[in-house]
Amino acid sequence: MTKVLYPGSFDPITLGHMSIVKQASDLFDEVIIAVLQNSNKKNSFFTLDERLKIIEKIYQNYENIKVVSGSGAAVDIALLHECKAIIRGLRSLSDFDYEIGLASVNKQISNNEINTVCLFADNKYQFTSSSIVREVFSLNKDISLYVNPIVKEEMYKLKNRKQKVKVI
Ligand code: ADP
Repeated sequence: MTKVLYPGSFDPITLGHMSIVKQASDLFDEVIIAVLQNSNKKNSFFTLDERLKIIEKIYQNYENIKVVSGSGAAVDIALLHECKAIIRGLRSLSDFDYEIGLASVNKQISNNEINTVCLFADNKYQFTSSSIVREVFSLNKDISLYVNPIVKEEMYKLKNRKQKVKVI
């Protein structure tokens, strides 16, 4: 049984991420999505726990897709869950430049145990990113083209909660 880990910040998970999950789940026996705390991105839209719950809800009926969260190195989470490789998604050359370095470091720090498998973004989602979704949402524009309806609903719920706090 071949398990793979798909780590990322998923703030929020987009249809682009979901197309990578679909490709990986067709290729491997089990995909574990690891929602990570990203220290580079201090102001996250959703908390780690909120991101975990949203992704769990999206994939609740999928036997071979699991979701975990963590704050450590992706390779340690991969080893903990007996994953053979890390999955990453490629949209562009700039993604490639970043991912090739990350893959090399991940291999080194895991004593050559964890390799990276890169899958290509679906054409439709080549320009989709979590930051673009947050930007479009902040401009009060429709984000349905980029995210699952569950994500959209949770983004509006959070926005309403924040607005209520402001009024109080
Ligand atoms: P990170 O902060 O670790 O880059 P992200 O949540 O931004 O986490 O992305 C996780 C992975 O998904 C990365 O490999 C990224 O390149 C990939 N990815 C992001 N958006 C897309 C997309 N639209 N299509 C395919 N892969 C994507």
